[in-house]
Amino acid sequence: MTNNDFCEITQFIRHNYNAADGQTVALHSPTFAGNEKKYLEECIDTTFVSSVGAFVDRFESEMARYTGAAGAVVTVNGTAALHMALILSDVERGDEVITQPLTFIATCNAIAYTGASPVFIDIDRSTLGLSPDALEAWLEANADVDNNGNCRNKTTGARISAAVVMHTFGHPARLDRLVDICERWHIKLIEDAAESVGSLYHGRHTGTIAPIGALSFNGNKTITTGGGGMLLFSDETMARRAKHLTTQAKVPHRWEFIHDSIGYNYRMPNINAALGCAQLEQLPNFIADKRRTAEAYRRFFENIDGIEFVTEPEGTRSNYWLNAILLPDRTARDSFLEYTNNHGIQTRPVWELMPNLRMWESAATDGIRVSRDIADRLVNIPSGVTAPRY
Ligand SMILES: *Cc1c(COP(=O)(O)O)cnc(C)c1O
Repeated sequence: MTNNDFCEITQFIRHNYNAADGQTVALHSPTFAGNEKKYLEECIDTTFVSSVGAFVDRFESEMARYTGAAGAVVTVNGTAALHMALILSDVERGDEVITQPLTFIATCNAIAYTGASPVFIDIDRSTLGLSPDALEAWLEANADVDNNGNCRNKTTGARISAAVVMHTFGHPARLDRLVDICERWHIKLIEDAAESVGSLYHGRHTGTIAPIGALSFNGNKTITTGGGGMLLFSDETMARRAKHLTTQAKVPHRWEFIHDSIGYNYRMPNINAALGCAQLEQLPNFIADKRRTAEAYRRFFENIDGIEFVTEPEGTRSNYWLNAILLPDRTARDSFLEYTNNHGIQTRPVWELMPNLRMWESAATDGIRVSRDIADRLVNIPSGVTAPRY
């Protein structure tokens, strides 16, 4: 690993993104090259900018059709979608929820909002998502299913009500086995598909394989609504319940204000949904473009000694939200981050592992060996759509 290599990588990235001298290549910028302005104007002209409006319904039904979900419900952001997914999975105060240590903070914050505690189980080397082997091993050693059909932690006595798998950087985790293990252990599986909109696992969309999936449309994601999120369901009844709870649990009536439970103001405004409709029209092109960039990176890094480019797992089609490379060790990682950020290329290490944060330093883990190794060596490199030519 020499500065020569770093220089070559920098030039390759500048070339791929057609960057002018002195221009910084961002990690991931949004692309607005379709009907965004037109639909936003429509919102303003019709005065439907807020809680009701045609774009909300349209975005939900078009996303359901695109992903094959039985129902889709928009939310104010991805974190709210995850919180709602946990509530709908009957996660209660005092429960434990299994997830991976390598994820964005939102996954664990959402678990904390319910009053449950996270248990951190390691990731797979090949997917960077929750490992079914590690999950099964941990459950066999630490859990059993009680007479009421609840999975319990044998040490703490707490109910293990749910597990959240996150499809890291858009690469689908091994869902078949995760679904099977969670069914056998009476644990509700949730897909944090915030990063993987449009990614396929054996031909099916991530977010639609577990009973509930959560998406994010934050500004740095593959498609954006400014801020926003979505719940995907394989069961329509659950989708209707989600719509009710995310809209203050108001009983439909022309003028009366009756609410039948504690609800949430988690709905997405119509102007954000308008952006979503315009972005969804371009999503297949965005993914094709991002996959071209990923393929170019893959071929380029074949000729760089000591750096491994992270590719989509077998049997999947990743949206390659964020491209990632693995350096030999933490020292090389830090030199690379320093060099690229000094030379106009935005690169980032992966998130601090969740159990390294103050809030979860005493949380249970299974040793998380793979996560620790990956966290030392991984760097995300520029991954946005290369040109607004749609
Ligand atoms: C982006 C993201 C979320 C949701 O983020 P919001 O900003 O609330 O939309 C959740 N989980 C992961 C893994 C993410 O990357």
